[in-house]
Amino acid sequence: MKNNNQLYGGIEGGGTKFVCAVGTEPNDIRAEAQFRTTTPQETMAQAVDFFKQQESSFGKLASIGFACFGPLDPNPSSPTYGHVLPTPKPGWSNANVLGVLCSAFDIPIAFDTDVNGAALGELNWGKGQGLDTFIYLTVGTGIGGGVFVERKLLHGLLHPEMGHIPLQHDKTKDPFDGVCPFHGDCFEGLASGVAIEKRWGQPGSTLPPEHPAWDLEADYISRALATYAYTISPQRIIIGGGVGQLLHLLPRIQKKTYEIINGYIQSPAILEDIENYIVNPELGNLSGVLGALALAKQALLEN
Ligand SMILES: [Zn+2]
Repeated sequence: MKNNNQLYGGIEGGGTKFVCAVGTEPNDIRAEAQFRTTTPQETMAQAVDFFKQQESSFGKLASIGFACFGPLDPNPSSPTYGHVLPTPKPGWSNANVLGVLCSAFDIPIAFDTDVNGAALGELNWGKGQGLDTFIYLTVGTGIGGGVFVERKLLHGLLHPEMGHIPLQHDKTKDPFDGVCPFHGDCFEGLASGVAIEKRWGQPGSTLPPEHPAWDLEADYISRALATYAYTISPQRIIIGGGVGQLLHLLPRIQKKTYEIINGYIQSPAILEDIENYIVNPELGNLSGVLGALALAKQALLEN
């Protein structure tokens, strides 16, 4: 029987901060806490403490959703399920982050990428509502994407790495080599917040809308979006993240993506309604933590 009072726990595990919340939906967040991402031991202990405190006020949680930065292993049948995979982030490689939660709480716990979580949040309460197939892309410090295909989150081998696709890179126009430690000038290497700061010598937040950085940025993002439109055939692409949600950038991305596709995808969604095809998230900066709550809800349905 469904208990209407049941509360969910959500963790948005980001590379720079963790956001934890308890609630049921966007209008019903009962408690929230944020803390800096330090070591896995310290950070996971803070998350556990937060939920223990909330359980002492609200009673036992129904389930927890953990939407974590990657790369990670989201495959429940794998021996390294719930681990962060080798990452440049010091201390986090091979950390069994899910194991910490599972030993502290005897309730269903869902584990997925931060961007798959955000996609699920938008599916439940935002711009993904009613769609079968869409992409949630975040463009911020890093670039990643969650993919919802025919009503399921896509995992495949591990999970999609939408930020690491190779892009056409015209070195006469943009001689910058890129910042990805694995690929140099992949999408993330060329267009992440880190790349913008390194290329122009100042953070994106200090560059005015008319700065040439933004036409170049829109160009790279649009090339990636066209690739996703061709390969996944999403009904919509939602772009979040600190860079992705810049108001002056979205119209440029819509226009350029439309030009790159050049009429090839014969769908009115692109040909006539690109403004509703490429959009910013409805849940804004709460996409992540609400996505974690959505994962928690889903964990309960699957148990
Ligand atoms: Zn890369």
